[in-house]
Amino acid sequence: MPFQSLGLEPRILAAIKDAGYTEPTPIQAAAIPKIIAGTDVIGVAQTGTGKTAAFVLPMLQLLSHREAKGRRIRVLVLAPTRELVAQIEENVRAYAKHLPLRVALIFGGVGERPQVEALRDGVELIIACPGRLLDLMERRHGDFTGIEFLVLDEADRMLDMGFIPAIRRIVRALPKKRQTLLFSATLSPEIEILTREFLHQPVTVQVGRRSNPAETVTQVAYEVPRHLKLALLVALLEKPDFDTVLIFSRTKHGADRIARKLESCKITTATLHSNKSQNHRLRSLKAFKAGEVRVLVATDIAARGIDVTGISHVVNYDFPMTNEDYVHRIGRTGRANAVGDAISFVCPDEHGDLRSLERFIGRGLPRKRLEGFDYTAAAPPEPPAPPRGPRPQRGGQGRPGGQGGRGGNAGGSRGGGRPGGGSGGGRGGEGRRSGGGGGRRP
Ligand code: AMP
Repeated sequence: MPFQSLGLEPRILAAIKDAGYTEPTPIQAAAIPKIIAGTDVIGVAQTGTGKTAAFVLPMLQLLSHREAKGRRIRVLVLAPTRELVAQIEENVRAYAKHLPLRVALIFGGVGERPQVEALRDGVELIIACPGRLLDLMERRHGDFTGIEFLVLDEADRMLDMGFIPAIRRIVRALPKKRQTLLFSATLSPEIEILTREFLHQPVTVQVGRRSNPAETVTQVAYEVPRHLKLALLVALLEKPDFDTVLIFSRTKHGADRIARKLESCKITTATLHSNKSQNHRLRSLKAFKAGEVRVLVATDIAARGIDVTGISHVVNYDFPMTNEDYVHRIGRTGRANAVGDAISFVCPDEHGDLRSLERFIGRGLPRKRLEGFDYTAAAPPEPPAPPRGPRPQRGGQGRPGGQGGRGGNAGGSRGGGRPGGGSGGGRGGEGRRSGGGGGRRP
């Protein structure tokens, strides 16, 4: 199906052509006509499926053919992290390049004055993290009475990060008559409650099963003693095909440690986590995207939404906390049908986690060994990492596609908590977890 048959006007089609897209992705083909028809839509899609264009293109179509009422804000897109906000903006600007559209971003961690000025001077489309936006709205910045579209992107993530109370307060200040679009990687019972609350007679558009990582990603596991993980990582990065590599660490401290080690081995490395300033984070991402650094070490803040073309490898240096995090992490490679490799380091005490993951994604991960690497080397003289607690499972104990809520086994966990927990104050950083049985370690 060509883009021309979706009811988009020539200026938008020209921008799509400039972006190099030849045909709509399945989520776009399914969602765009429904959104243009004025329906509220719940979009359930895997990472990297083109969902941003699936909601931006039809909104642009409708905006360009409706008269604006004064200089009021017409579109509000809410997203969980600053990086995702910046990325949505990039897409919006590309798709609206032939349209007169004023766009502003609202997120915490940076000075608020330019954001306040943008709200005052009149913008049509706002992309925001809920915390800072609520802050500004409560101080009466911006006129939200003319909102025609509300988009909740990565709604499951926003729920996880404890943003729902803020979102409720934001939505209460919006006109009831509006079109609402909600995108989520999962349709858990909690998300369904939100959809009933915020959407009016929505249709659901679902593409692919959430528990299946992109088919174009090759997934393998390296079994390695914990004390040799850094050495194995360095040895792998010496291989020429490890071109653009995103490494996931469970903790901010761990991410910094990995980066220091790689830098000491002359591997140019950037870091992305919530202890870093907003400017540092944007610089890191920019350098990685531009190919100025080969390696980005990140905590799970980068696991959702970040879109960097041409990531050749995702390395789970630390095994992900949940099976769903795994799917999101490895979704950073193999995007838009490009191929990619996902490598997971598995320590001797993590085999249970690995088996649970394999059940969740419905396939076994081939075990791989690096030729010539000494897996029997002694531990270097440094204190061993603390033992890990049991790994909570959302969505049921590894049932493929299981999304049976987040209850259950968070209690009794040991260990030092989530990376990023508590930092950023819920203002678009790695933020808070929702309280009460969040299914992850507190
Ligand atoms: P998203 O899921 O919105 O993050 O999109 C993932 C990637 O797919 C981005 O790099 C988009 O630029 C790209 N993309 C979106 N739509 C298309 C399309 N129709 N054809 C090719 N690439 C696309």
